[in-house]
Amino acid sequence: MCLCVQSALQVYKEMVLLYLEEGRRQVNAHCADLEPLQIIGATVIITLVSVWIKRFLFQQESLTSRIKKQVFRIIRKIPFIGGAIQSQLNKALEDMSASLCTLKEGMSYTKQLPSKGLSQSQVLDKIREYETLNEVQWEKGCVSGAVYWGDKALTDLLVKVYGDFAWSNPLHPDIFPGVRKMEAEVVRMACTLFHGGPNSCGTVTSGGTESILMACKAYRDIAYERGIKYPEILAPVSVHAAFDKAAHYFGMKLVHIPLDKKTMKVDVKAMKRAIGKNTAMLVCSAPQFPHGVMDPVEEVSKLAVRYNIPLHVDACLGGFLIVFMDKAGYPLAPFDFRLKGVTSISADTHKYGYAPKGSSVILYSEKKYRHYQYFVAPDWQGGIYASPSVAGSRPGGIIAACWATMMHMGENGYIDATKKIISTARKIKTEIRKIKGVIVLGDPEISVVALGSDDFDIFRLSNALTSKGWNLNTLQFPASIHICCTVLHTQPGVADHFIRDVKEQVAIIMKNPKERTTGMGAIYGMAQAIPDRSLVTEISQGFLDCLYSTEAVNSNSNHMNEPDLRVDQALLTIQNQLTQNVQVFYTSDYCYKCVYQHLTTVKPNNNASVVISTKFTLHIRVESQDRNTTICRWSQTYEENGRYSVWIRIPKSTTNPSCTHTVDQTPNNVSLPLLAAALSLALIAVSFVVVPIIYRYAYAFFYFLFVLNDT
Ligand SMILES: *Cc1c(COP(=O)(O)O)cnc(C)c1O
Repeated sequence: MCLCVQSALQVYKEMVLLYLEEGRRQVNAHCADLEPLQIIGATVIITLVSVWIKRFLFQQESLTSRIKKQVFRIIRKIPFIGGAIQSQLNKALEDMSASLCTLKEGMSYTKQLPSKGLSQSQVLDKIREYETLNEVQWEKGCVSGAVYWGDKALTDLLVKVYGDFAWSNPLHPDIFPGVRKMEAEVVRMACTLFHGGPNSCGTVTSGGTESILMACKAYRDIAYERGIKYPEILAPVSVHAAFDKAAHYFGMKLVHIPLDKKTMKVDVKAMKRAIGKNTAMLVCSAPQFPHGVMDPVEEVSKLAVRYNIPLHVDACLGGFLIVFMDKAGYPLAPFDFRLKGVTSISADTHKYGYAPKGSSVILYSEKKYRHYQYFVAPDWQGGIYASPSVAGSRPGGIIAACWATMMHMGENGYIDATKKIISTARKIKTEIRKIKGVIVLGDPEISVVALGSDDFDIFRLSNALTSKGWNLNTLQFPASIHICCTVLHTQPGVADHFIRDVKEQVAIIMKNPKERTTGMGAIYGMAQAIPDRSLVTEISQGFLDCLYSTEAVNSNSNHMNEPDLRVDQALLTIQNQLTQNVQVFYTSDYCYKCVYQHLTTVKPNNNASVVISTKFTLHIRVESQDRNTTICRWSQTYEENGRYSVWIRIPKSTTNPSCTHTVDQTPNNVSLPLLAAALSLALIAVSFVVVPIIYRYAYAFFYFLFVLNDT
């Protein structure tokens, strides 16, 4: 038997050697006519090209995603189409800022420090003014999530505790030993709740996002140590966006694992298939935010053990519900450190822990993981710097308030709250399931119930419920809405009211299920359907900008009814801040020795916008009407789709008016990129067609030289 195998191997060995020999002869025969320099040159070029191709094909971002982005980038440069998209985008941005960041009549923004500080009572008066801006009455339980309790007695306690620790900072444990003790105790109590062993540990962070960031950072560093260059996070599609953020911040790749369409739980088989040499961590949510469904932590934990990969359980949302559900009479499958594969858990004390915003915990099963979270700068001039999480200085007052909340609530307090919340959510789930036309996504076991529909656009229901005073979360892929029940929803009548409103509104919609969606609902629908996600990003950036706006939006400013510009046009606004009319004249390069023509007249303290051509250099002259003198003149080639302003005013130091130029909106040059695109296309054509020809001729030429030399 053994001999037999050996002789068989011998045969194979001889065959391989034979082929190798044959290969060697073939290659050598082909290269016999080549100069060593040619061989070396070809080798170098082939190596460089293959390295380049490999780099081009295999990047952090997949090739398809890059190609898609590039295609959309090019589309937006195409004249007319690009311009149309841009003007739609501008319109959307303007509508948003008009609807979002408007102040009430008579209000204005403070843009400078008051030169003399306000008295305490003045400050408090001002504060009341700001409170009047609130319009949503979240206390009544009409808002999904957001505020998890808001109890008056608890608030009073928190304010007192915060006041006592307002100046403390756990960065200085020697000065504030009390806060250190509290933080350690918050972490330990949380570990105990999640069945952590004696080696379990963690830190308090500023919120769920920071907890998640910290876990990903720790596992990234472990992956680096294991020799993984491009660490990957394997997480369900339903996982919180904080993981996208972590991947983005820490140079990791987030691989989204699909859900089972029926249960909305992560598909464990797909997760298993996705595990590879770059996998740095697995993630489960308990429960996930969109549909409130618990991922199959038990099964994923088995994968984690089998492949020796850390597993993070994101219990940010429901952490302080699920640990009490057993005792509240709603048992769950295990999800915490009882499972061997679970190496870390994030849980937000500022959600169902009922602590004030700005606190969360990240817990690890072993101390070794926490070390990878820490940051130490041993050589800093300011001293050896060691900090546990993202922040340096941290609010001791918040940690104290979090500790106080946990101590005040106690196990009985949390169990009571959990009972009330879970029974409310279960009631909503059961009743909604009875309504014809809507469906509940998956089988939510905790506090979130997500609604969808196979019969009509669910965002119509969202609109209808908004008009009834409900403020729900809208979800995408698939389109759905959810309500996240908090203690506020357990108040008498709230859940019934909600169920009744859903029933009534669905009945109305079902009379005409295919009707078009309008208003905000239509916008949510559209936002999902836009293939170019960079547009969605841009609008969202506009939204964030708008949040920091301190310009009162004036709905009849001339910006609102600006003309749509053609590709080769720009908009010039003359802002006349003088007390007299100004006349603007122009001539262009196109028109050699032309007389100046009248462009516009601008009234005192007013402005006027004119559409100008970008094809030629314009020579512009501003004259004051009364004195008939030239205030200023300039020559400029304005760029495509730009919005420019010229401010005519009298500077403080002189009495003569002068002009200042500003760019309100950077130009969007379409012809330049087009030119560049044409040039690069030409280049590619040249390299594909011309270069091989030259190469062939050159080769033939050298070949002839060879042959001639030889003979
Ligand atoms: C809220 C939440 C987070 C993030 O928490 P923040 O406190 O908002 O930073 C993470 N995961 C889930 C499931 C959440 O619901």
